[in-house]
Amino acid sequence: MISVNFQGRSGIVLGVANKRSLAWAIAQQMHQAGASLCFTYQNERLRAKMEPLVEDIGGAPLFQLDVNDDAQVDEVFAAAAAELGGRLDFLVHSIAFAPREELEGDFLDTSREGFRIALEVSAYSLVRTTRAMVPYVPEQGGSVITLTYLASERVVPKYNVMGSAKAALEHSVRQLAAELGPRGIRVNAVSAGPVSTLSARGIGGFTDILAHYREKSPMKRNIEAEEVGKASLFLLSDLASGITGEILHVDAGYNIMAI
Ligand code: NAP
Repeated sequence: MISVNFQGRSGIVLGVANKRSLAWAIAQQMHQAGASLCFTYQNERLRAKMEPLVEDIGGAPLFQLDVNDDAQVDEVFAAAAAELGGRLDFLVHSIAFAPREELEGDFLDTSREGFRIALEVSAYSLVRTTRAMVPYVPEQGGSVITLTYLASERVVPKYNVMGSAKAALEHSVRQLAAELGPRGIRVNAVSAGPVSTLSARGIGGFTDILAHYREKSPMKRNIEAEEVGKASLFLLSDLASGITGEILHVDAGYNIMAI
């Protein structure tokens, strides 16, 4: 019988900034399913925010990690595996960034540097962190999940270069899934509808986007972060043992609508 039970399995969660973060919603589901977790934070200011959160789930190791720092990526994954009994069964990658000015004007005006930064932080980091995880994945396999958005497939005004980054991220999911499949490592993405988080509020007109989704989606509502958490738990678990390279839309059905 298959059940969602992560007792004895452990993983690393990247991208908790605060209690509204999608990574936190995923972590809560994984914790309730019995997984052992560790977390990364980008800077000391965020560590102070994470400590009380992590206390709520009984504590977990915290590591400082800027995904742009290759040496730090390898060090943190080695330290995380050491803290978690020498194994990493799963990776939650919930990180994205683009310079604010790139999300304000026209895509036509995207700067070379803005394009590089957005793709490096939001897409290359999946490749780099997955590579750092692989040596610690047990023989029976593991699972990776990342967070994407519909702007990879369609034009969302103001999302600009972040749409390019999400397209690269989704391609990376498929490429990694193909290469890591023989090793028993599955790689998938959740394409989430808009949820009011720190990053999302940096997108121009985000409140209008929320209202637009409520009006146009089949379910006539916005999604909750918890629903992203539950879908991620599914993809990370043995319930999804035959699924890899998949982009699963968790958006109250918005993506199926033409008008
Ligand atoms: P969030 O709470 O602001 O999380 C974004 C995280 O990325 C933060 O923890 C941020 O840390 C981290 N990050 C950025 N640059 C980093 C770097 N160089 N090294 C390490 N960490 C870095 O927002 P969120 O909405 O939960 O975003 C999580 C993911 O979901 C993103 O990939 C986002 O694109 C995706 N997503 C969100 C929505 C939505 O509507 N919220 C919809 C679809 C997809 P700092 O705070 O230090 O920058």
